[in-house]
Amino acid sequence: MSTSPDLVPAHALDAADPLAAHRDRFVGAEQPLVYLDGNSLGRPLRVTGERLRSFVDEEWGGRLIRGWGDVGEGGWMDLPLTLGDRIARTCLGAAPGQVVVGDSTTVNLYKLLHAAAALRPGRTEVVLSADDFPTDRYVAESVARERGLHLVWIEPAEPTTGVTDDEVAAVVGEQTAVVLLSHVAYRSAAIAPLAAVAEVAHEVGALVLADLSHSVGVLPVQLDRTGVDLAVGCTYKFLNGGPGAPALAYVAARHHAGLAQPVTGWMGHADPFAMGPGYEPAPGVRRLVAGTPSVLSMQPVADMLDLLDEVGIEAVRAKSVALTTFAADAGRRLLPDARLGSPADPERRGGHVTLLHPRMREVVAGLWQREVLPDYRDPGGLRLGLSPLSTSFAEVEAGISAAAEVLAGLA
Ligand SMILES: *Cc1c(COP(=O)(O)O)cnc(C)c1O
Repeated sequence: MSTSPDLVPAHALDAADPLAAHRDRFVGAEQPLVYLDGNSLGRPLRVTGERLRSFVDEEWGGRLIRGWGDVGEGGWMDLPLTLGDRIARTCLGAAPGQVVVGDSTTVNLYKLLHAAAALRPGRTEVVLSADDFPTDRYVAESVARERGLHLVWIEPAEPTTGVTDDEVAAVVGEQTAVVLLSHVAYRSAAIAPLAAVAEVAHEVGALVLADLSHSVGVLPVQLDRTGVDLAVGCTYKFLNGGPGAPALAYVAARHHAGLAQPVTGWMGHADPFAMGPGYEPAPGVRRLVAGTPSVLSMQPVADMLDLLDEVGIEAVRAKSVALTTFAADAGRRLLPDARLGSPADPERRGGHVTLLHPRMREVVAGLWQREVLPDYRDPGGLRLGLSPLSTSFAEVEAGISAAAEVLAGLA
């Protein structure tokens, strides 16, 4: 008789999990609190405390202003590009020299939407999804206003499984400058078919700007191979960089020659310390740097990249699939009145799972009172963010059991 995967208990899955021991490397993982929001703010690694302490004592306190160095000297000036290259190699499948770290995802969207429009002069439309994260939609609205562009909205027919390349193909044309799309949808976790989207966009000469906020660090991204032109993403979610850690921005090398962005600060100048009379962009993606880099906030990201290099992004993805599959099964078993708001096929699903029920807002409020921390996302979504290296199967089971109890107790 074969055993249904639903019936394998959480503790047995934890016992058999080759990555289980890594959980102890995160601050607070030993506490009873159930943390299901690692896709909004990853837990800190214990080594990050040590790294920050020694950064203060040795680099900041010891090197002082000398720490910056000049471009190419290996000091803080180089960090936006060297950390960018590390993220590119470990998580993004991107060759060196195409990623910078700096500013927020919001600001990088602003820079890259302008850059995309400038790379496609004369074209009048930006295509985006009504399901895109709010900041993406809001920034697109203002860039469109500033450049006299028109927004073309895709309303995904099936929000649970996300935007399809057919839906993109139906609206792109010779007026499309850029298609803006999340790689993993923030509510449903649906994975967008980036390579297929890039193909239909490129057929009409349009560019693709992908938001990787919910995929970087949890889902291997083959950015160079997909043909995506530009990308942005957060480092405080699955890269555990800490609150407000600076974001990434990617521009494929083939677009570097004509690349122009609107925040033309001194740190993106070809020779910042010459303090010359006019702006002259640095070569390549360095010109995306605007002002002084957030050196302190970049430190923790390096710790998570060390761990991802040790474990391997493919192994992280395998655990992620196991966790989201377990969560979907546990949801079916323990919350039979709820509906899966994420793709049922794990190949189409990112690192989180959403369970839908009309009373989830109240359920999530009750869970926070019990030290169970998931997220709520309208409409009626209990969103379980399952950071693979810091989340156990037992934690998922405890969280969904608690949700069932809270729901049963509602009048
Ligand atoms: C989290 C998230 C953001 C956040 O942007 P910030 O500028 O860091 O606030 C943007 N886009 C997506 C898709 C996100 O999931």
